[in-house]
Amino acid sequence: MRLIIYAVAIYIFYILLKRALFSSGTRSRSTGERGGGGGGGGGEKSGGFNAAEETVQDPVCKTFLLKENAPSHTDSRGTHYFCGNDCLEKYKNGG
Ligand SMILES: [Zn+2]
Repeated sequence: MRLIIYAVAIYIFYILLKRALFSSGTRSRSTGERGGGGGGGGGEKSGGFNAAEETVQDPVCKTFLLKENAPSHTDSRGTHYFCGNDCLEKYKNGG
């Protein structure tokens, strides 16, 4: 019976030793990589949300619409986007 206990103990020790060697090896490798490089300055792409697909509000009829196809008008208050030329004309005339 004692032989089995020894065998199990040796087996567990062997697994722990193997794991310790493996983890320490990968850890030293990754830290080495991190220490060596470091030149790229934040070139992260924010995927999917273009400025052209931004939603804006028609100031005349309060409809939300996409900038992309909307007629726009720029004045001293900024650029405004409209659902159609009717609202654009109303805005120009009415203020
Ligand atoms: Zn409108």
